Amino acid sequence: MSYQADITVVGAGVMGLAIASQVTNESREVYVLEKNRTFGQEASSRNSEVIHAGIYYPEDSLKAKMCLEGNVLLYDLCQKHDINCRRTGKIIVASNDTETEELEKLYNRGKNNGVELRMLSQKEMKQLEPNMRGVRALLSPSTGILDSQALIRYFLDKARSNGAQIAYETKVIGIDKIPDGYRVNVEDSQGNFSFTTKVLINCAGLNSDKVAGMAGIDVDEASYRLRFCKGEYYSVNNRKSGLLNRLIYPVPTTIGLGAHVCFDVSGRMRIGPLYYYVDEVDYKIDDSRKKALCQSAIMAALPFIEPHDLEPEMAGVKASPQGKDEGFRDFIINHECNMALPGFINLIGIDSPGLTSAPAIAKYVGTLVDETLRNY
Ligand SMILES: Cc1cc2nc3c(=O)[nH]c(=O)nc-3n(C[C@H](O)[C@H](O)[C@H](O)COP(=O)(O)OP(=O)(O)OC[C@H]3O[C@@H](n4cnc5c(N)ncnc54)[C@H](O)[C@@H]3O)c2cc1C
Repeated sequence: MSYQADITVVGAGVMGLAIASQVTNESREVYVLEKNRTFGQEASSRNSEVIHAGIYYPEDSLKAKMCLEGNVLLYDLCQKHDINCRRTGKIIVASNDTETEELEKLYNRGKNNGVELRMLSQKEMKQLEPNMRGVRALLSPSTGILDSQALIRYFLDKARSNGAQIAYETKVIGIDKIPDGYRVNVEDSQGNFSFTTKVLINCAGLNSDKVAGMAGIDVDEASYRLRFCKGEYYSVNNRKSGLLNRLIYPVPTTIGLGAHVCFDVSGRMRIGPLYYYVDEVDYKIDDSRKKALCQSAIMAALPFIEPHDLEPEMAGVKASPQGKDEGFRDFIINHECNMALPGFINLIGIDSPGLTSAPAIAKYVGTLVDETLRNY
């Protein structure tokens, strides 16, 4: 590894690799540093693999903008590069009058954001999903699913073929501001070393607040402090997988979109995640939470699924800037010039719909990097 980089990306999840693939060219020396043994081992491979439409997020939020743009870019990219994806469509279902009121608000919000949506009559609900129960439902035709591993692999290959170097088992442990950029201190299997970089992009997922703190940012003052939200997925007995045709979601709760029905690209059905806050990150499945999942809003719509149809499958943890009982928090994507850290770009709290938004965020960060290097 050379000791002077142009651009360094911390983290080889979908975000770090999408950005690396965007910003690398023959005239730039680009490194991606990843603490794990390989790429995409954290949130990027432990999620619902849903290509979201952009329904839930406030108008003008980064989440709304990046998700809508990302949705279009992703379908296009999957088609061009042979990445398995399916425009399954999704139904959000209300099971009582209170949820119906919320569903109508959601319809208006999604429409304002420019998402194609349609309220369904009871007759249409029965035609589209004969096994689903509910009093009212909303159809989002542009929601779909993709093979997230194939997407991450695509960004990795593109970053590499553009010239980026990926260093695994290389953990960023310190950052010092120097006149021409940053000194990055890292730990790898050989010990500790440091190098300098003009631009530093923090895509460290669950650790992105800590990496921001290493550069001297007060994470509480900046409202960058992350909480860990864990959720578990259960696979549904194969005999029942064919009883639904689309992704089915409840009317959302305060943290996350609510446990929902999703499929992988091979058609295997899963239900989850029901989020709860944790202090430490681990991916063990806490079986005692199955009961809460079986009583969650989505199950009212799926009377054909019984507890013994559900087998624990996997857990995911999201990096959420939103504390318990707090309202909406947007993606944090900041070039930290105002904190006297020019060339330091933070991506913090990239929770859902981060996978969908990855190609749009990469384009956006690409423009920030071009500006920075132009003024260098
Ligand atoms: C349960 C769950 C379900 C979701 N469902 C969806 C969905 O259906 N659709 C959707 O659009 N989005 C979804 N998301 C969101 C999406 O998965 C994330 O937004 C996205 O994966 C974030 O990617 P990332 O690269 O920022 O983070 P990560 O994939 O977590 O990658 C961060 C990387 O940084 C590395 N790292 C951390 N610290 C350091 C360090 N100090 N030095 C070096 N490397 C470091 C980590 O090892 C990791 O590899 C979901 C998320 C979760 C958790």
